Amino acid sequence: MATLESVQDKVRSRDPNQGEFLQAVDEVLSSLRPLFDRYPKYLSVLSAVCEPERVIQFRVPWQDDKGDMQINRGFRVQFNQAIGPYKGGLRFHPSVNLSIIKFLGFEQIFKNALTTLPMGGGKGGCDFDPKGKTDSEVLRFCQSFMTELYKHIGPDVDVPAGDIGVGGREIGFMFGQYKRITNRHQGVLTGKGWGWGGSLIRPEATGYGLVYALDFAMKDAGECLAGKKVTISGSGNVAQFAAEKCLELGATVLTLSDSAGTIYEPAGFDTEKLKKVVAIKDARGRCKEYLQHSSTAQYFEGKRPWSVACDVALPSATQNEIEKKDAESLVKNNCKYVFEGANMPSNNDAIEIFKKNGVVYFPAKVANAGGVAVSGLEMAQNSGRVHWSREEVDAKLKGIMENIYNTSRDTAADLGHPGDFQLGANAAGFKKVADAMIAQGQ
Ligand code: GLU
Repeated sequence: MATLESVQDKVRSRDPNQGEFLQAVDEVLSSLRPLFDRYPKYLSVLSAVCEPERVIQFRVPWQDDKGDMQINRGFRVQFNQAIGPYKGGLRFHPSVNLSIIKFLGFEQIFKNALTTLPMGGGKGGCDFDPKGKTDSEVLRFCQSFMTELYKHIGPDVDVPAGDIGVGGREIGFMFGQYKRITNRHQGVLTGKGWGWGGSLIRPEATGYGLVYALDFAMKDAGECLAGKKVTISGSGNVAQFAAEKCLELGATVLTLSDSAGTIYEPAGFDTEKLKKVVAIKDARGRCKEYLQHSSTAQYFEGKRPWSVACDVALPSATQNEIEKKDAESLVKNNCKYVFEGANMPSNNDAIEIFKKNGVVYFPAKVANAGGVAVSGLEMAQNSGRVHWSREEVDAKLKGIMENIYNTSRDTAADLGHPGDFQLGANAAGFKKVADAMIAQGQ
């Protein structure tokens, strides 16, 4: 039988240059030792869980507004379909490569399992940068991307959605092309617009779900979010709706950011101020422009928000945005809760620092599962040819987040490590997928 170490070594030697993927595998495998000590049978599927079922890489040719042909590289990694069709977003960002898509797909397996909905794990994307492109360039790119991707997806096969760089506009363009090619109007993508198959609350779901999970954790600890200082990184979909929900629950939101820097409101953003940031982002502008609208705001050029004192940090920008020194600074400033809105925003050194110092740390696969959970609800509505009300979807999202929170907490306690939500989340997600794989002969 394989050992934890032999599988880790095998994965490392197979893909020595895939840094992000190896980091994600190390994070999950290293945390799972108590699960394998208790249930050695799960070691039998470990090697298979770390190897994608299918990796698709393709050329994406498209014409820019000057008439020149551009070539980008597209990916879809169909990682694991033990519990349902592959499900996971598409990321369009210049940093995208196979390592990043594999790390995201690997994380997605366990996140999706935790939602309790029947979804396997997958992820895709392209090194295309929508920033600075015109709508017609984005349209031509999306059409070309889907002209290859449609061969590999389908409502019962693989259902992509958005991620960084892929919002309502891109989903619309890709959905249109899928329909044109296949002559089918089906739930093949989630994150669709309201009125053409989308679900209410899908845009809000990741941010709202993040704050619902935080609220459950705080209540369990006899605390409440009202009056707490919150730092948020990012200013996209996840950050915006996390901030909105924090304000609704009475917290003070101190920061938002983008890759160029952080905006800091010393007395907190109110609803009007938050709307200004959202309007700037909707117009595809930069956070710095917000300074023109506020006399109280400060801007930290090229900096992340982690030196600002807070009770709660919600990293909601991108991977590895909290490194060792950032975690040390958060701990020094008495931050007590770190809930990950982005995927793998804390590196493994940072996680160790949080856990050593008693910070309540919630990994992305618990904390940001609300997004894919409502994608699952969108799939259910599409299959049933129905639309649920805002209240219905929101109540289901809250119920799913509560269930994920309880399952992670109880699994950690059952394995003898109460309060270790990293172990609880990884073990609960892994167990569900591993049980399905064992039952199906891998
Ligand atoms: N990209 C999101 C995530 O990381 C959502 C995926 C989806 O809705 O399929 O979970």
